Amino acid sequence: MSDLPPLRESLEAHGLLAKKSFGQHFLLDLNITRKIVRLAGPFEGRAVIEVGPGPGGLTRAIVESDAGPVVLVEKDPRFLPLLNELDTGDGRLRIIEADALKVVEADLVAGPAHVVSNLPYNVGTPLLIKWLTGPWIPHAMTLMFQKEVAERIVAAPGDDAYGRLAVIAQAVAEARIVMHLPAAAFTPPPKVASAVVHLVPHADRPDREMLKRLETVTAAAFGQRRKMLRSSLKQLGGGALCEAAGIDPDARAETIDIAGFLRLAAACGS
Ligand code: SAM
Repeated sequence: MSDLPPLRESLEAHGLLAKKSFGQHFLLDLNITRKIVRLAGPFEGRAVIEVGPGPGGLTRAIVESDAGPVVLVEKDPRFLPLLNELDTGDGRLRIIEADALKVVEADLVAGPAHVVSNLPYNVGTPLLIKWLTGPWIPHAMTLMFQKEVAERIVAAPGDDAYGRLAVIAQAVAEARIVMHLPAAAFTPPPKVASAVVHLVPHADRPDREMLKRLETVTAAAFGQRRKMLRSSLKQLGGGALCEAAGIDPDARAETIDIAGFLRLAAACGS
């Protein structure tokens, strides 16, 4: 990768400007992208899927690492010539022009794979939900979000940011913020600061049926988060459901931990 021109020069040479509609905010500093990849790894030869490689700052760092096959999924075809320049011809890099929300990951990689991405902000949360609750689950995910979304993913009971996203994410994976980045780290800078979240799915994560129930329970509970659960969960069984799950019916959603929500979800289907 060291004989490639600096990213800013590559972008200029290809006449590429960021498109707002595609959530394009680029990381052009390889010191930053290398740090993200160090926090994501080690990959130990496993495949890495990168969503939205854009000009390829993060891609360069992934290609330099101990990743096995590297699969890039980019929606904006303008970047394909630039990404092709990163192909060393050893068959390790695969570039796919597609919408990441629509790709079937199991068709892209054979074994366990990491997802590493500076996500487009407008599709970051739906993509995370897809990887947490869909049929294909990554080995680990290292993902850039707006700081506020990152805080909602890792929030604990009692935090203002604690809600559906925290419960679903932490029911499936261990999630922690591993890096903060100011808006100025990106070109062009977004309006808000960002943070990188590292998620490692639990070995004993809930099955898809249980996750569906968890989504139903958390939607009802946090839909009326100031109400007592006996009232917000009325349609699902109210006080009786809470008692079956060993939860105080007078408690509010924001005080219930992940294990409590999992018990409510289990009781919901019984
Ligand atoms: N990874 C690059 C970096 O760090 O400099 C670019 C990150 S930029 C925030 C987001 C990238 O995702 C852009 O390249 C954009 O074209 C791409 N993108 C946006 N929506 C997408 C989608 N639905 N599927 C795949 N890529 C998408």
